[in-house]
Amino acid sequence: MKKNINIVWFRNDLRVDDNPALFNAWKTSDQLIAVYFLSYQQDQYHNLGNNHKRLRLKALSNLKQKLAELNIPLLIIESQNYVSVVNDLHKICERLSINQLFFNREHAFNERTRDTQVTQKMQDTVFIRQYNGDCLVEPGSILNQAGLPYKVFTPFANQVRKILSGSELFCYIIPSPMPVENFQLLQEAKKTSKYQDCIKQTGFEDGCRVNLDMLEIQSVDLKTMLNTQQTIDEPRIDKPLIDVPRIDEIHLRGQLLDFVINNISSYEQERNFPNLESTSQLSFGLAVGAISVRRCYQIAKDREPTSSDCWLNELIWRDFYRYVMWHFPHVSKKRGFRSVDSNLVWSTNNEQLGRWKRGQTGIPIIDAAMRQLITTGWMHNRLRMITACYLCKNLWIDWRQGEVFFAQHLFDYDFASNNGGWQWCASVGTDAAPYFRVFNPANQQKRFDPEANFIKKWLPELANYNAKEIHNFESKAITDYYPIQTDLKYSRKLAIEHFKQAMT
Ligand code: FAD
Repeated sequence: MKKNINIVWFRNDLRVDDNPALFNAWKTSDQLIAVYFLSYQQDQYHNLGNNHKRLRLKALSNLKQKLAELNIPLLIIESQNYVSVVNDLHKICERLSINQLFFNREHAFNERTRDTQVTQKMQDTVFIRQYNGDCLVEPGSILNQAGLPYKVFTPFANQVRKILSGSELFCYIIPSPMPVENFQLLQEAKKTSKYQDCIKQTGFEDGCRVNLDMLEIQSVDLKTMLNTQQTIDEPRIDKPLIDVPRIDEIHLRGQLLDFVINNISSYEQERNFPNLESTSQLSFGLAVGAISVRRCYQIAKDREPTSSDCWLNELIWRDFYRYVMWHFPHVSKKRGFRSVDSNLVWSTNNEQLGRWKRGQTGIPIIDAAMRQLITTGWMHNRLRMITACYLCKNLWIDWRQGEVFFAQHLFDYDFASNNGGWQWCASVGTDAAPYFRVFNPANQQKRFDPEANFIKKWLPELANYNAKEIHNFESKAITDYYPIQTDLKYSRKLAIEHFKQAMT
């Protein structure tokens, strides 16, 4: 009898636990192979920085090992762009006589277009099975009473909660190992012309330029890239590469449990204080799909049914930005959700932008936050809001510049959340901050870092000043510190004026 050979295509779901595409492919397979495509052109389009790229490589390396334990070979192919991904996948499926292709949906515009092209090209020869592996609730399944997509977070969140409480949240288990012979599929796949081309071009046995067993080699490449890509107003990166956070599945599960047991009940009170380290830091794992958002929700809800509400709400924000991308694809195309965005004429002051990037604005909380970002590849949520709002409201610099800078530095970079966060701060997004709401960074630092402990941690030059002196930076300049870039009150007023004009 003819064997049922399946292929599972990994994307932003680099895990074996609660992976609907993997589980369903495994369930119906006699033989199963996994594939992942690296597409540098798409990375460039998203302005992906080296931190996130290295995080993804680590996640791939972990995944490869996990799949090997299940006797499932993972083929990693370097493809120019999404057009070549479609062709390469087609070739592999032909060569291996694949019956069914499994993947979890992605929600941004280019990814959707790619998936439509795959379906069009292959639907006559291969059964294509798609799943939701990245959201609490599939974006396409939620509409308001008028049958239209929600534009406001709260009713959307209520609907998500209603769906999730209706039945027990289901998560997929890790498949059990395939027979050892399943690995032979890799040998077959290696005979494909695409695979041979890769070996010829690169000399790497692994079939692509990035040899995952040799992350060291990748690091050397990245160092060279960092030096050559650096521009004059970007921070100098002359220190060793930042350690990539741990994102293996066992570690992430432990981190989640630890957070749920020890921190989730105080999350609501403490989450806005950057010095407390009271948030989960699961964003690294979530950003590459090394942990599933549904598993996070399930564990938190089961263990802490009431005190987890505030944290679960943040997971729903993550869903909301994916939902917005799905229903309003123009936000994926460097455009604001609200049409006022196209009427705003931004400042092009590169000197000001450079000082913001380097953490030299003269406003302690902004500078400390930017140094945290540059040094660790992560920034606390409250600080992401304060720095973003300052860039687009007080400095009146296009939010897209900030979006790119965050993408270049964040390990946990996530297209939908980053884009949604920036549009929210710039008052051009769905359910965004109203245009007249401009954070005052001086008040924010007093409120959320009252002892200035966070500020002093990241700005050693302020170590000898007390909190009062640091908070009074507007009325009395701090000696030997950067001068304040802009008058906060005046620039706030100006931003509101710009908006009013753009809306008429
Ligand atoms: P926790 O507070 O423990 O929250 C748990 C999870 O919920 C997070 O890991 C994240 O997946 C999700 N979440 C929390 N807050 C938000 C939010 N406001 N919007 C969407 N999801 C949220 N998050 C990213 O994952 N990647 C980004 O690139 C990103 N860029 C941002 C840019 C701006 C300008 C702003 C304002 C926010 C951005 N966020 C981004 C959202 C948020 O800052 C981070 O998710 C959070 O700081 C991650 O830390 P944590 O895992 O400890 O979060």
